[in-house]
Amino acid sequence: MIDMTSVMCSIECPNCGRSAIEDNYYKSEEKYIYCYRCGYLYKRMTKDGVNFQVDKNKGYGHLSKKSGEGKAVFFNSQMTIDQLGEYTNEFYSENTSQEKSYLITYEDGVFRCLLGTPTDNFHLSFEEFKEKMIKKYGEDEFGLVPIEV
Ligand SMILES: [Zn+2]
Repeated sequence: MIDMTSVMCSIECPNCGRSAIEDNYYKSEEKYIYCYRCGYLYKRMTKDGVNFQVDKNKGYGHLSKKSGEGKAVFFNSQMTIDQLGEYTNEFYSENTSQEKSYLITYEDGVFRCLLGTPTDNFHLSFEEFKEKMIKKYGEDEFGLVPIEV
């Protein structure tokens, strides 16, 4: 039986220190972390409730594409010239909203925005993000920080 009760909140990204999203399934002890800043990914999954499989991608940036479908591509290695070409084409494709999309790399602790404009929240450290969320939504009784892209 798959237990769908999960708690989603923002946490400090273990890779870049900005705000990442944690999706925590307390009962099955499965957990997902994804960072829409640096592209870090963490998955802890189980098929039988006993053996857990952990997948991790150290983030090297990501492409956030807003269009009909919307899409995020997380990079798990430094971007190659070919990939850069591919993502640039995708960014400028007809069905992509260039105002809302962006292409970011993250290497050696440095963010570079290659295309588009990231959100205001993108630039905040987790602490700054948390402060902003508390001001906006009030303090959560469990200390959970809400999610905002
Ligand atoms: Zn991150």
